[in-house]
Amino acid sequence: MSRILIVEDEESIAELEKDYLELSGFEVEIATSGDTGLEMALKGDYDIFILDLMLPGVDGFEICKQIRKEKDTPVLMVSARKDDIDKIRGLGLGADDYITKPFSPSELVARVKAHLSRYKRLVGKDVQKNEVIEIRGLKIDRTARRVFVDGVEKNFTTKEFDLLTFLASNPNRVFTKEELFSNIWDMESLGDIATVTVHIKKIREKIELDTSKPQYIETIWGVGYRFKI
Ligand code: CA
Repeated sequence: MSRILIVEDEESIAELEKDYLELSGFEVEIATSGDTGLEMALKGDYDIFILDLMLPGVDGFEICKQIRKEKDTPVLMVSARKDDIDKIRGLGLGADDYITKPFSPSELVARVKAHLSRYKRLVGKDVQKNEVIEIRGLKIDRTARRVFVDGVEKNFTTKEFDLLTFLASNPNRVFTKEELFSNIWDMESLGDIATVTVHIKKIREKIELDTSKPQYIETIWGVGYRFKI
């Protein structure tokens, strides 16, 4: 979902814009002062900014300038005065569009959509995000096939990765060693269920703080293993 930041000191206008944009499926946050807006814009992860020009504290001008130093996220500048818009257009601050108040909410939505799709085409931002499983300090990036424990990457063999991922994607379910073996290893491969035990041991050494008290992969005696969440 695309995220929008509206920086607008007139709360009724900001709320109206927010309502319409949310109805169109966007996630919207509002900042009602320039200072907050600038901070949110620089720190947050937004797909488009809607900046009012006249703001208490830092104005829309300055926010646009600061954003442009760090990001190429689309900026829509809003002002009540046509003159101001002409002026800022001339300054070449790098805003992508200018709208004069009052404008109809549907016009705003249309412009937001147009800029987003143009921007996404431009930077290929629409590529799918990696599929990630995160449980407490454990992060499994299924797409990149990488595992992190408390932010530190651990090296996994193919089968260790497959086994961990299989268990973590089916949490709180007990699997017998036979089930795990048949799911991870193809039938022709050499080995038996002891292979599963060996792999579980190796995985635990990489992800558990204390392998005698595993917090992720639990042994269910006489049955098999369960990934706890
Ligand atoms: Ca204003």
